[in-house]
Amino acid sequence: MKIMEPTAHSIFPDLTEAKNVLTLQTLDSLSTRLLDEVDLGIMVMDAGNFLVARNAALSLYLPHVPQTLGGLVRKESLSEEIFALVEKVRQSGKAVTSQLTEKKSRLEILHQVQIKPFTEAGPGAICLLAEDVTERVQLERIRTDFVTNASHELRTPLSLIHGYIETLKSGMFKGSNSMLRCLDVMEKHSRRMMRIIEDMLTISRLESVDTQLQCLHFCVHTCISDVLEHLTPMIDLRQPVIHVDLPRNGMMQGDRFYWDQIFTNLIENALKENQMPGLTITVKGVWREKDIVLSVADNGVGIPLEDQPFVFKRFFRCAKHHSQDIKGTGLGLSIVRRAVEAHGGKIVLRSIPGVETVFEMTVPH
Ligand code: ADP
Repeated sequence: MKIMEPTAHSIFPDLTEAKNVLTLQTLDSLSTRLLDEVDLGIMVMDAGNFLVARNAALSLYLPHVPQTLGGLVRKESLSEEIFALVEKVRQSGKAVTSQLTEKKSRLEILHQVQIKPFTEAGPGAICLLAEDVTERVQLERIRTDFVTNASHELRTPLSLIHGYIETLKSGMFKGSNSMLRCLDVMEKHSRRMMRIIEDMLTISRLESVDTQLQCLHFCVHTCISDVLEHLTPMIDLRQPVIHVDLPRNGMMQGDRFYWDQIFTNLIENALKENQMPGLTITVKGVWREKDIVLSVADNGVGIPLEDQPFVFKRFFRCAKHHSQDIKGTGLGLSIVRRAVEAHGGKIVLRSIPGVETVFEMTVPH
């Protein structure tokens, strides 16, 4: 008697249209392959803590869990914390989710672990799902911070302007010097609001697929001199030593509007973030055969290692080590990165707080 192997059709009658008839064995290896494609770490263990199923990504989260099915999952290969959660799930019969922090060479990685009863694999069996949520949690923090920062940044000048309008309307300062001072302050604050809104528009323009760069040949030295001229009030205030170390005739092909913005944001950050005396800013350019390496460096407070992966993200501001009085929206560096990338280049940050912070851009020419 010929025993027919069950087919995918007999299990899933709706698959009548399927061209290839899948055997149960193929289905099994297919689902194993599929599990291995998933970024989530997945494992199932029975009531005796023997491994029933696992996928490849699990090694990223729990590297000491046995590779072969049927192996014993020891407490130490899961960590005390996860093992306690497994016990809790078995006792309560309810799923639990927990976020665990792991330190990887001074960076904090956040893992979300979800443990559920999985009685399909027998009584007391559990299923564990592990996921890296570091970026998601950071982005949520960045978004929340932005709403707070942007509202604060816009509300402060707006309420000052509002206050001055009320005063002017009252006629108190009519025709006097105080009236001119009021108007000056109003102008200063409205300029600041315009800058924030301009930054937001620039970033959305750079992110739009329709944006075309207006690329022309321009002299980088002149561009930097213009930027420094523009930043004179801040330079006078901070009194830094500024070295401009690039050839006077160094030309590049690019959209001058964005390069003005790139150098303004980088030099302005170096000035703004470093309120201590003894600040040195170095703007450097090296023309190589195929590309140009441009950099802006300072010897100031720097950017802590844990913040470095996020500084180019929209609305990110280093909160912990920087003064709350320093104004900003966290858009400057993200404009810089997008503008450099729009020119086919890339930007990297190297920072040793208190020693040297370098933003280095490499652009083809
Ligand atoms: P912001 O508008 O806050 O200046 P940016 O995107 O330009 O936004 O910068 C993001 C954050 O990176 C800043 O809030 C600041 O804390 C940090 N940062 C940027 N450049 C420097 C620098 N040269 N030195 C120290 N910190 C810096």
